[in-house]
Amino acid sequence: MAEGGGARHLLAEHGHDPEAVAGGLAAMDEAQRERILAELHGAAGNQFVGQVVALLPVAQAGTTKKHGGKGGKGGKGGKASGPLGSKSAAVAFHAEAQAKVAKVIRKGLLSKQAQLRNSCEWIEKGLCELVVLTPTHDASERAAAMEAPGAEAVFDLSKLYPDSGGSYPEVAAAGDAGVGLYPPGFEGWMMGGRLTIIVRPGMDAERIEGIIMHEVQHQADQHEQGGPGHAVVDAYQDETNSYRSEFRAYWIGDGGPGQKHDVFGSPDEPATNFTISALDEKGEVVDRPTNLANQRQQRILAHLVASYPWVATTYVADAAFREMVDGFSLPVGVNVVSSVRIQALTDAIGVLQPDVTSTARERSAVVDRTRELDDVDREFLRDRAQARPFWDHARAHLPHEECVKLQRGIDRETMGDFRGGRPARDPAPAPDEGGGPRSA
Ligand SMILES: [Zn+2]
Repeated sequence: MAEGGGARHLLAEHGHDPEAVAGGLAAMDEAQRERILAELHGAAGNQFVGQVVALLPVAQAGTTKKHGGKGGKGGKGGKASGPLGSKSAAVAFHAEAQAKVAKVIRKGLLSKQAQLRNSCEWIEKGLCELVVLTPTHDASERAAAMEAPGAEAVFDLSKLYPDSGGSYPEVAAAGDAGVGLYPPGFEGWMMGGRLTIIVRPGMDAERIEGIIMHEVQHQADQHEQGGPGHAVVDAYQDETNSYRSEFRAYWIGDGGPGQKHDVFGSPDEPATNFTISALDEKGEVVDRPTNLANQRQQRILAHLVASYPWVATTYVADAAFREMVDGFSLPVGVNVVSSVRIQALTDAIGVLQPDVTSTARERSAVVDRTRELDDVDREFLRDRAQARPFWDHARAHLPHEECVKLQRGIDRETMGDFRGGRPARDPAPAPDEGGGPRSA
């Protein structure tokens, strides 16, 4: 899940009115509703989501599968508590889940797979926070007691990785700071620099790896307003940025094409294309045939259409958005490999200004960060098409000849006398300065 594109859309449409938002959610299918509700937590807060969930019809508020087959089909609304029959069992499971995630990260740091290794390093170096949550033993009853019937109570929001442990009060109280209330079925999201993972019995290490890779990319792509990965477009800006961020996160979230858990297929196979249908503003069904390039792009788009209602409605409504989606055939981004080193380099570049002389410290920061890049980072940045937003960022902050030196540094050549900002050796006076006759 990205940082709130769908939720922002819903809030823009309905305002912060829980009843209207619940009405909007009730019209969606279960998968869509879950994703939007997850985003809504970051966009509007826990309490608001609690109010919204309370207003959803019980069957819709969400008994979801994903828990694996055990314990029946998760009865409607009432008792979806699952196998964590007592508080001590729930607390013990919580510790196990934290240990499991910590082990995934420890192993991931040593993985040969760069995407996983980098994503784990991202967490380990503290570029995002991480909290691992698990259900309370009385998850649905507690949620109801906390005025969010239909939600699931999870804990412990106060224990950020690498801290472990955690508990919750015997008796539910409205202000329990460590207890979160989410619709059952949520597994992971990245909001405000914090990665949240909800672990339930049966969630395996591979799933945790997938969540980590997907969600870290949402932050590494710097797609939020003001970030170098944020696209500025005439209309549907939120949708454009959310679409691209999800596209990248799904592209790399299964480990990438050809990897062990590849679910979206190959970028080398042609797309077969399909038709996207949605209601237009007059309430009439409009069909739009896609014009995609490759299989992997197509499967990710199909997944996003099924997951986020705004993808189909925007695709149908807006020719520019359609063109963007059709043309976005590869995961173009600032830092698609989720590298802490590329993040550090974009930060170091970001403080420079082309028309201001850089300090020695600023210049050496760029040179040092460039030197620290590993082979995967360099390979990614050498692909000027896939890393175009990185190079746009560099061009916005550096004069042309300094950009060329940066390219050389990335290509493992010397960066020479990298000057950072204003490159002029002897700043020539502007023609209208000085007045007097000018010597050659
Ligand atoms: Zn996502």
